[in-house]
Amino acid sequence: MAIETPYYLIDERRLLRNLRIIKRVRDCSGAKSVLALKCFSTWSVFDLMKEYMDGTTSSSLFEARLGHEKFGKEVHAYAVAYSKEDVKSVSGFADKIIFNSVSQLEMFSAYARGCKLGLRLNPQISYSHFDLADPARKFSRLGVIGRRLPLKVLSLLSGVMFHFNCENDDFENFSKNLDGIARSYGDVLKRMEWVSLGGGLYFTKEGYPVDKFCEKLKGFAARFDVQVYLEPGESAITQSAELVTTVLDIVRNKIDIAIVDASIEAHMLDLLIYRLDARMKDSGKGRFKYMVAGNSCLAGDIFGIYRFKSRLRIGSIIKFIDTAGYTMVKKNWFNGLRMPAIAVKRLDGSIDVVRRFGYNDFVSSLG
Ligand SMILES: *Cc1c(COP(=O)(O)O)cnc(C)c1O
Repeated sequence: MAIETPYYLIDERRLLRNLRIIKRVRDCSGAKSVLALKCFSTWSVFDLMKEYMDGTTSSSLFEARLGHEKFGKEVHAYAVAYSKEDVKSVSGFADKIIFNSVSQLEMFSAYARGCKLGLRLNPQISYSHFDLADPARKFSRLGVIGRRLPLKVLSLLSGVMFHFNCENDDFENFSKNLDGIARSYGDVLKRMEWVSLGGGLYFTKEGYPVDKFCEKLKGFAARFDVQVYLEPGESAITQSAELVTTVLDIVRNKIDIAIVDASIEAHMLDLLIYRLDARMKDSGKGRFKYMVAGNSCLAGDIFGIYRFKSRLRIGSIIKFIDTAGYTMVKKNWFNGLRMPAIAVKRLDGSIDVVRRFGYNDFVSSLG
């Protein structure tokens, strides 16, 4: 049975490939991995993911609650800034509350009933291809600057979090930066029970030296006698979903332009923000070149320019690959476009359409 386009299709077998590497890192190094929900919150596959991961980490009260309700296991609750009410609510189900600043920690530690407390530190080193996503950028507000923490702050903490990477597939760079952190923060780290090294480490990428990575993490954990956490977002779900679309029209303005029933602006927003093309399997090989564009009225709603083996027709199916991370969590109702359904290809090969969106969802998102 064909599913009506547009839809995101998550493939659990592809997900499993990443999850097995995460489990291997856990087994070899002792480092636990918690899923960064801001990257991927599609809870219909959490039953599979939670067999391989230790819990979730979040950026807000709602994400933390989702992690608690739909994933279970450990709930790390970080936020750039909490209100007092947020802290009271989140403390009902979080295991750890990680504050972004000393002022938040001091204001709210009293409301964090029973939770372990952490603080985000900003080592002012980073690996990122984009200034927009660089936690060490000029005037960054992400985490505490400075190597020394007063004793009265330290005494509140059981752990610290460093998030300083973005799609870092360069192990040597990570290794060097971790050594830098060990040197600069040794006195703090020695007092902690746990240290989170954040996300953005691309250790599930093909060719990544997983064994060396494990050795490094294990050495760090032993040196400071801490439980290490990783917070993979993209690397947990990379390469595990497609966005399946249908060509609605083909127009020509010097080049052939195929318009599909989905939009970069509404359904793959991250690509637009970072000015990246959507990826397509085997593109670049065929004789027939088209610009593939979205069906919103934004002039720059363009997925990219690709080569196809045969001529596209109205009704042709176009699949974009690697569409799990930072896509479904960012989709929006711009132009009132039809929202892609969410389908899951289970390990046994069967396909569940777990969510369809309709007019009522559009209406109920506004008031
Ligand atoms: C974004 C983020 C992550 C996940 O990053 P990925 O690049 O998707 O792995 C983890 N931890 C924190 C604090 C983050 O802000």
